[in-house]
Amino acid sequence: MKYALGIDIGGTSIKASFVSEDGHLSPRITMLVDKNKKQEETLKDFCRQIDQNFSIAEEDFLGIGVGCPGGINPKKGTCDYATNLHWKDFPIVSLLRERYGKPCFIENDANVALLGEIYFGVGKNFRNVVFLTLGTGVGSGLYLDGKIYSGNEGKGAELGHSTVEAHGRLCACGRRGCLECYASASALTKDAAWAMAHHPESKMWEFCSKPEKMNGALVFQAEKMGDQTAKEVIDNYIFYLGEGCLNFCNIFRPEAIILGGGVAKQGEYLRAKVESYVARNGYGLLKDNPPKTQILISCLGSEAGIYGAGALCFENLRNS
Ligand SMILES: [Zn+2]
Repeated sequence: MKYALGIDIGGTSIKASFVSEDGHLSPRITMLVDKNKKQEETLKDFCRQIDQNFSIAEEDFLGIGVGCPGGINPKKGTCDYATNLHWKDFPIVSLLRERYGKPCFIENDANVALLGEIYFGVGKNFRNVVFLTLGTGVGSGLYLDGKIYSGNEGKGAELGHSTVEAHGRLCACGRRGCLECYASASALTKDAAWAMAHHPESKMWEFCSKPEKMNGALVFQAEKMGDQTAKEVIDNYIFYLGEGCLNFCNIFRPEAIILGGGVAKQGEYLRAKVESYVARNGYGLLKDNPPKTQILISCLGSEAGIYGAGALCFENLRNS
């Protein structure tokens, strides 16, 4: 069996595991990132942990894949910036190549998680997939005609910053009405807290002592209990997420849109609502004409990044 070393860099920690070609993971290692340390030192520390914890026969170790947040340049193999980690102009790929003498590849974290789903998850056998992570923001990845689409210098596919409400809410990116302002887990939590504060009769008060403690999972729970206020919050959430999905259906006509991130933990309940919205509202000019787009929920969850980092290596070696 052949393996790729999958490295999943997150906002606060780095994880790694060897991923086999048939989709098995070795026990993973995790290291918290010390943001006060030099970026090169952090990588060296992590490599030391890799060397201590893993032993893979040289001939079975094919290469390395890295998923990283922030601005990534896959061609140059650099992390141009990762604000949360305090990293800047970091040549991760050349440093790892030098240390291990193996091919190494890097992509942004959303594209990598998407590749995980394509190789080992719900995206198997698809050639056109839109991936949305509904978390703190709305991250996105695009797999088009059987390839990851990264855009110029790897900075493309920011679907979370497509506009769903002109003159709408102010986004962290500086523009207004971005999908992220309505369909992220943070937006759902904020909307639920606001609705709860304005509706003392809402069942949300039974689940949560004050609006500041509200979260996305609780508003779904209250809605399932028949609470009208929670229903309005969820309907509004599905409206914007659905409109975003319809835009992506019209632009890309993917075989599937895969939903991941915190809100996707609602699983089939969320999937069915989004699918129903998309089906009811058609595909614009293409209404009633096949092919339809499937709405799916990510099945790799928090492991998607490691699986995807392994898949990134297999994918690049396959195409080279
Ligand atoms: Zn934005």
